[in-house]
Amino acid sequence: MDKLDTIIIQVKEDIFDKKSVKELEKAGYSVIFNDERKPIPDKLKDSIVGIILPDNEMDESIMKELPNLKVVSRWGVGYDNVDISYTKQKNIKVTNTPGTLETTTAQLTITLAMNLVRNVRQADNYIRNGTWKKTKEPFHLTHDFENLTYGVIGLGRIGKEVAILADKVFGDVYYYDPMVDIKNIEKEDHKGRKYKAELNRLDTIEDVFKTCNIVSIHCPLNSSTRWLIGDEELILMSNRKPSYLINMARGEVLQPLAVHLALKNHWIDGVALDVFANEPLDKHHFLTDLNDAILTPHIGSATYQSRKRMSEVAVDNTIKVLQDKDCNNIVS
Ligand code: NAP
Repeated sequence: MDKLDTIIIQVKEDIFDKKSVKELEKAGYSVIFNDERKPIPDKLKDSIVGIILPDNEMDESIMKELPNLKVVSRWGVGYDNVDISYTKQKNIKVTNTPGTLETTTAQLTITLAMNLVRNVRQADNYIRNGTWKKTKEPFHLTHDFENLTYGVIGLGRIGKEVAILADKVFGDVYYYDPMVDIKNIEKEDHKGRKYKAELNRLDTIEDVFKTCNIVSIHCPLNSSTRWLIGDEELILMSNRKPSYLINMARGEVLQPLAVHLALKNHWIDGVALDVFANEPLDKHHFLTDLNDAILTPHIGSATYQSRKRMSEVAVDNTIKVLQDKDCNNIVS
């Protein structure tokens, strides 16, 4: 191995696991942190053999300046930000970190679902706006969780974890996933207790919006899911009350104008969005004017524990690819 071989980590240094950086150094690589939004410095370009990549775009214009690049190691699971046709053409391997963030992302999904149903955001505003007065009506009533049907779009790794938690908290759980047909999921929880979630498969995505009080989206972004959900789907929720929508997948799966329309026309009672077509979301974006929307800054996997696991697996993937060892996490 050339001793100048460099791994560039585009994740912010303070949230990347330090022991994992040491692993790269022990394996003989030079490690440089370069903030995800900054261009890669010219003087490093020839030496770069690997990039550890958060969610910023990795397109041909960047990669063609890195003649020795061998691996793009996603620090996360979705790889829609990587130009796969270019990496294939140049035989650059792309890896991701399954098994590191599914429970974490599912926990935020259910947190958001519970917050939507109990109107926590509006209740907080009710106090801050000075509306809470002894003589006035109390804050309006919400709903118990047990009778609300829950729908998962995309029953993959995260969708399954969401289904398990939703089964514990809410009523019947439904899902739509063109490739999956299962009736239940069995899992051991963190206390070693066996848990079996009963699931109901729906044949079409429209059925999810017709059947469920709460729908959360967990499919990958690709050419068949780009702008998949719009006003034709959301209007179907107007027959189910209350009705809530959560997008944990990618911003471009859900049409933002349809969200606006659905809230303004009361087709849905609330929405929670963790992902946006253009991130970071501008504070003047029209979505920020919607009172019944909870907006979170792409934090599905943002816990100390998950970020540590992501760093460990991203580093392990990088070393394995560069050293020609078997790596189970190559996605392309
Ligand atoms: P995954 O295991 O690949 O699961 C995605 C599932 O969606 C798969 O079963 C997939 O089927 C299915 N699917 C594909 N097209 C669909 C469609 N049109 N309608 C319904 N389902 C469809 O991926 P994952 O690990 O669960 O992650 C899912 C996505 O979550 C990632 O791609 C990423 O974009 C997003 N994510 C967000 C955060 C966050 O912080 N908010 C964190 C992690 C991940 P096939 O396998 O047959 O394609």
